[in-house]
Amino acid sequence: MFIDTHCHLDFPQFNQDRSQVIERARAEGIEYVINIGSSVKGSIDSLGLSKEYDFIYASVGIHPHEADNFDEKSENSIRQLAKKEKVVAIGEIGLDYFKNYSKLENQKPLFISMLKLAKELDKPVVIHSRQAQNDTLKIIKESMPLKGVVHCFSGDVDFLKAFLDLGFFVSFTCNITYKNANNLRAIVKETPLEKLLLETDAPYLAPEGLRGARNEPAFIKLLAEEVAKIKEVSMEEVARATTANAKLFFNLK
Ligand SMILES: [Zn+2]
Repeated sequence: MFIDTHCHLDFPQFNQDRSQVIERARAEGIEYVINIGSSVKGSIDSLGLSKEYDFIYASVGIHPHEADNFDEKSENSIRQLAKKEKVVAIGEIGLDYFKNYSKLENQKPLFISMLKLAKELDKPVVIHSRQAQNDTLKIIKESMPLKGVVHCFSGDVDFLKAFLDLGFFVSFTCNITYKNANNLRAIVKETPLEKLLLETDAPYLAPEGLRGARNEPAFIKLLAEEVAKIKEVSMEEVARATTANAKLFFNLK
């Protein structure tokens, strides 16, 4: 059994066949799905999915892409949502200097306020960081103690070590299966299995062979296979370790 610790089944890419996608996840041995909110609306929808399906849990938060629209009202909405049953984390939150859909000066206060909220409510955080290593690390260090995971890890070894030193988990997506992803595979190798989580980030980043297509939680096996290959352990061992890690991190039974 696997846990998909990060996907976006609330996104419009699933509007035509959401229930079938969720059925397939179940059929393929996904024990739990964590559906990640990336806006107020997305967080409400994530919570809705968690109410509809026993095996789906929700994370609520505002993505750095949405930072230009962040205000007190949206902060309050996230605070209220975060207190609901089956909300297991705050995220995804962080900094994105790659796409820069929102202004840098707006991304930082949003990130800091979401970290503060997580601390206040004693929830783990799901971090998005793209080409923003130094600022991400600096802000997190200033906000410790926190329990967190860096999702869709794309940093270098120093960044990895810095987060491991803080006790953070690291989560990898199906992009580690891509032919040109040798750097990323080297990072997976450096990450202890006890600190590693699996995620599809569906609908994004479908695995090699399906690249460009829509990703979905059922494809997580292809990711686990790659991790098993890199770590030179069995699939069962990857499933056992990552599922235990996810249960510990999100406080699932
Ligand atoms: Zn995501």
